[in-house]
Amino acid sequence: MFKSKSKVETGKKREKPRKVCYCVTAGCVNVESADGRRGCEMSVEQWETHQAADALAHDRLEVIKQKAEDTFQNDLDRVEQDIANLVLMESSSLPSIDSLWGRDSTSSNYPRVGVKRRERRDALDFQAKSLCLLHADIKRFHTSSQSAINEFLHNPLHFLSPSSEFPLLHIETEFARLHSLLSAITFDDPSIKVMKDLATNDLTPVASLIAHARIKWQSALDQVVRPEPPMLSAALGPSPPLFDCSRHMRPIYQNTDPILVLTVFMIMVTHVVAGLERRFCNWLLRMSQYIIHTTLARACGTSPIPAREKNLLKEMPRDIRSVRKKWDLDGSTILYAACPSCHMLQKVVYEKGQPTLSPYCSNRPFSGGRACDALILAPRLVHGKVISAPVLPFLYHDFKDWLANLMSRPGMEDAMDKSWIESEERRKQGICTDILDGTVLSTFKGPDGKTLFSVGSGEA
Ligand SMILES: [Zn+2]
Ligand SMILES: [Zn+2]
Repeated sequence: MFKSKSKVETGKKREKPRKVCYCVTAGCVNVESADGRRGCEMSVEQWETHQAADALAHDRLEVIKQKAEDTFQNDLDRVEQDIANLVLMESSSLPSIDSLWGRDSTSSNYPRVGVKRRERRDALDFQAKSLCLLHADIKRFHTSSQSAINEFLHNPLHFLSPSSEFPLLHIETEFARLHSLLSAITFDDPSIKVMKDLATNDLTPVASLIAHARIKWQSALDQVVRPEPPMLSAALGPSPPLFDCSRHMRPIYQNTDPILVLTVFMIMVTHVVAGLERRFCNWLLRMSQYIIHTTLARACGTSPIPAREKNLLKEMPRDIRSVRKKWDLDGSTILYAACPSCHMLQKVVYEKGQPTLSPYCSNRPFSGGRACDALILAPRLVHGKVISAPVLPFLYHDFKDWLANLMSRPGMEDAMDKSWIESEERRKQGICTDILDGTVLSTFKGPDGKTLFSVGSGEA
């Protein structure tokens, strides 16, 4: 129709051609002029109409093309879903699969929805089953932990001598495990939600029980770890033989930032154990401070470093000597003055800066003979002060302090008591494998001269 019309028009407007049309819709592109050129000459209005018709046709063609592509993709999807169904058929012998295949295959949404439903149902089944098992575990844990915690809370032994590690740690660990398993179930289904709520209700009360037990244990432990100074001095008052070993029980870094404790510990080990000298230890302290500062600065970004962390940097020791002093590692020693002549040792005690000892050796090497009379104390300049110091000093550790240090180590006393019990059992069997099993030590009398030493008398 267009073609004939255009032919007529081209004939009409031949004299006054304004534009050449090459449209496809009207067939202008196929028109051949006398000189062999393609295209059709026409007025501008006519040309515009042709162009508009061509554009419309082009748009329609695009739509058709897209539809064709969609159809093709749909076909591909169909094939994919069919393959998936086949695989499911082979991997599962559930009867429900038949209904899937029994559906009208011409229905366009059948394969996709079918498989999705199936996946969902499988996932739901799986989560429901695991939730059931988990809930059973939680119920068992609930009853067992409840009785264990109650038993713990009602046993005064746990609080009179609390162990350094929380005794219910295994329950805490199990709780954390069950909790993480439960929170991993996130399926968005009402039935799953109800089941999860029930399990959560069984699990949550255990948390508060554990917390209660932990607080009680912690407060009992704090009382044991921190000996009250007035109580100790009161105990020391009436019975003089008691040795004050509180210096070995004093916590050195209580309520201190663990970062600081760890850093100082590392450097103290290199100083004391590895023997790194003071200057390098001080350098390590400064470097640690720099490292912590740089890390904090990076972590904080543009915001200022929090007050607590700033304080940590401020509290960082600069000199290893101050740390050593705080750690109080040096055992207490006793100063003796050795006689240069007769080698007699005499304990030097200072009172108000002056020794109570005579500066001359009072030893008589031979009975009835004269005193040695050698000079054992001579004035020395110490820190700008003149004091009378031994000519031949001899330092020896205080045995009582050394023993107190040994006994204050956790578990040491128990181990010592245990060795007596074990030796007693061996002796009954007639076996002798240790010095404690021998007759001398097993019959050794205690300080009162009556009781066996192995029996002991309390903690004195
Ligand atoms: Zn045309
Ligand atoms: Zn002497």
